[in-house]
Amino acid sequence: MEQYFVNQKIENDKFVIDDAETFRHVAKVLRHKTGDVIYLVDVSEKLYAATIEKVDLNQQKIIVRVELSDIPSTELPVDVTIACSLSKKDKIEWITQKSTELGAKRIIFFNSKYSIMNWKKNVVEKKLVRLQEIAKNAAQQSKRRIIPEVLYLDSLKKLSDHKASTNLIAYEESAKQGEISLLAQTLNQQPESVLCAFGPEGGFAPDEVDFLNQADFLSVGLGPRIMRAETAPMYFLSVLSYKYELTVK
Ligand code: SAM
Repeated sequence: MEQYFVNQKIENDKFVIDDAETFRHVAKVLRHKTGDVIYLVDVSEKLYAATIEKVDLNQQKIIVRVELSDIPSTELPVDVTIACSLSKKDKIEWITQKSTELGAKRIIFFNSKYSIMNWKKNVVEKKLVRLQEIAKNAAQQSKRRIIPEVLYLDSLKKLSDHKASTNLIAYEESAKQGEISLLAQTLNQQPESVLCAFGPEGGFAPDEVDFLNQADFLSVGLGPRIMRAETAPMYFLSVLSYKYELTVK
């Protein structure tokens, strides 16, 4: 089942795919023909089965007949933002792709004291376009109903403008002190939305943690092992899926 996002609302039982990238993939790469079925997700996060009626190679359009699908949503039942300290290009691309697969709704990269990278103002837009494209491809591949939003904050302090109903710091020092219950307790309260901040390889500076604690971010440990900066958010997202999506029958 291939799935594509369309940036409009599907309102009729006929729809024309004219987005160049989707056209190229469906018609040229996969060489779909009349009668083949693909899936479309529109801006209202609805999934449609789309039967191809015509592939118009001249006008670069595909005409499809759509039918609302009853396949259940794949979205996590909690709205999750992961906020990661900026790191090298390949790592932030990896974080964007994998956290999309694992269900994050928003991915924030922020500059912090021990970040090894810093984005100059003039490159931010270009970098975000690239990361947003990675998020879109990963969301299509993992059959998400939304494309996570990717944001950049030039200061950790700006995280307080993006708060969720529950806000956490994955803090290595909490883990080292044996803190193993606050995350589990927090998730038992079924928060509507949760944001978790992750530090760089060098960790958080104590004054950054103080600032966030004062802004109502709770420091939590993620178990006894200290993970790489890009592993910790994946652990966190996996815990949410285990907690809210899996069950023993
Ligand atoms: N340099 C730090 C040290 O030696 O303690 C380790 C930083 S760790 C590589 C990078 C980030 O991952 C941390 O700032 C934290 O956000 C997160 N992290 C990794 N393991 C963690 C754990 N067990 N508990 C909480 N956070 C963790």
